[in-house]
Amino acid sequence: MNIPSSLADKIKSARNVFVFTGAGVSKESGLSTFRGDDDSIWNKYDPEINATPEGFYSNPALVWNFCRDINLFTHAKPNPGHLALAQMESYYDTFTIVTQNVDCLHEQAGSTDVVKIHGTCDLIRCTKCGHRAPASNFDFTHEFTPDNLPKCEKCGALYRPDIVWFGEYLPEEAINRASAALQRCDLMYVIGTSGEVSGGYGFAQHAAAAGATVVEINPKRSSLTYFADYHLAGPSGEILPLLLDILKNS
Ligand code: NAD
Ligand code: ZN
Repeated sequence: MNIPSSLADKIKSARNVFVFTGAGVSKESGLSTFRGDDDSIWNKYDPEINATPEGFYSNPALVWNFCRDINLFTHAKPNPGHLALAQMESYYDTFTIVTQNVDCLHEQAGSTDVVKIHGTCDLIRCTKCGHRAPASNFDFTHEFTPDNLPKCEKCGALYRPDIVWFGEYLPEEAINRASAALQRCDLMYVIGTSGEVSGGYGFAQHAAAAGATVVEINPKRSSLTYFADYHLAGPSGEILPLLLDILKNS
């Protein structure tokens, strides 16, 4: 793919970068997206049952089995897209990744300023007292039934995944950090997100209106493409290393 020279100039001259990522950036690590691809998770599972508090409280075993089936707790590896983002950091004053992903692949790749607005799969949280425990303390490979659900080691109530389900508030501290990064950014990357859930639309609209350069990386168009100055149509694992090369060669 040829990167337009006007975009290469913006990439080199920017100082504060806001990266907004979604499930697509982890696709090349073997994790399925929720929407937009033939093997997307919501083509096979009902989000109302598997990703809402109501669904969980009416059938927690089913939701834990869903988490197991979509490999929420298995360990994927960062792909060249995550690794390129981690290396880009050193070329800018600030480089904040705001991710909707609950995998830990940006951190594993070496990114240091990662804001997780939808929680994380490396922890589970008590539904009553809020105690958090490492997911790695538990076995998520077996079939869950009402008799073997993970229970809080402090109070005995049910544990749940420490992720944000549909209908739940986004974590306040994460949103504050994302807003601060948004105010200062002069370059925004929107990578691998359909833009159909929380925040994306507002982030891209705000950055575009404030004059930041908005670059989308996604093989398909999304609901955020409208705000993009550049749409680089292809997989992020191939395109991000090309953008890193621009910085390395400058
Ligand atoms: P989404 O599933 O709604 O959309 C994925 C987007 O990625 C689509 O637009 C698709 O065209 C694009 N895409 C597919 N392959 C790509 C590639 N190789 N490179 C770049 N883009 C590619 O994802 P979303 O917008 O993040 O929203 C889904 C929600 O599901 C989020 O809240 C997220 O937390 C959660 N989720 C997380 C993971 C994860 O942690 N890895 C995986 C699935 C879903
Ligand atoms: Zn508890």
